[in-house]
Amino acid sequence: MEIIHLKEVFKTYQVSNFKTSALTDISLKVERGEFIVLAGPSGSGKTTLLNIIGTLDKPDSGKVYLEDEDVTELPLNRLADLRLKKLGFVFQTYNLIDVLTALENVEYVMLLQGIDSKTRREKSLEILRAVGLEALANRKTYQMSGGQRQRVAVARAVVGEPRLILADEPTANLDSKTGESLIELMESFNKSKGITFIISSHDPMVIKKARRLIILRDGKIQEDRYC
Ligand code: ADP
Ligand code: MG
Repeated sequence: MEIIHLKEVFKTYQVSNFKTSALTDISLKVERGEFIVLAGPSGSGKTTLLNIIGTLDKPDSGKVYLEDEDVTELPLNRLADLRLKKLGFVFQTYNLIDVLTALENVEYVMLLQGIDSKTRREKSLEILRAVGLEALANRKTYQMSGGQRQRVAVARAVVGEPRLILADEPTANLDSKTGESLIELMESFNKSKGITFIISSHDPMVIKKARRLIILRDGKIQEDRYC
């Protein structure tokens, strides 16, 4: 089954009377279980595309289907529910709740999902173990390094058992070795849990790990190939 289907998606931004075409006629199908790197220079439309796939933003025209459901015109409450159940996000700047501990950050997703506290605790600890942070579970995330925070962000994205994780330049603030192990962590969750990943990056190390590489240029798909 296709997890994502975009059909002729266009997106422009207007700032005062100046228009920028962020995405021009993007059509794309993604199968469940793929591990995709979305590359392209700064300004090529990577973030806009991830936001549209993640239902955080809407196209001006065109259609977005997630698991065969047309999500283009769903009301906001349905979208919030869908994101909580099906999607996980990892951003460039961690987006954690810094006054909470690693464990509390990870548990929070399951709290929103209405999962009981015992299961929340068990699952969160299991995932933190899988990302190598069990010993730091009770540390507040502002007391952690960039690499550790990004591992918490991956743990938080994975713990709700989403079908799809969207990661927007997740290694941008990490040194290359830390960045590489973060991508390897995502690969391991792709393999063990069958989660589909789309990772945007212009880092050659990340691009090397792609099993499918989609290159954007000026809001268009310039290249799309399996590696
Ligand atoms: P990337 O993530 O590849 O750097 P973006 O999706 O952020 O690219 O941006 C694509 C284009 O849309 C760029 O020309 C950018 O300047 C423009 N853009 C992105 N977000 C906005 C916004 N909120 N308002 C106006 N223009 C924007
Ligand atoms: Mg971006």
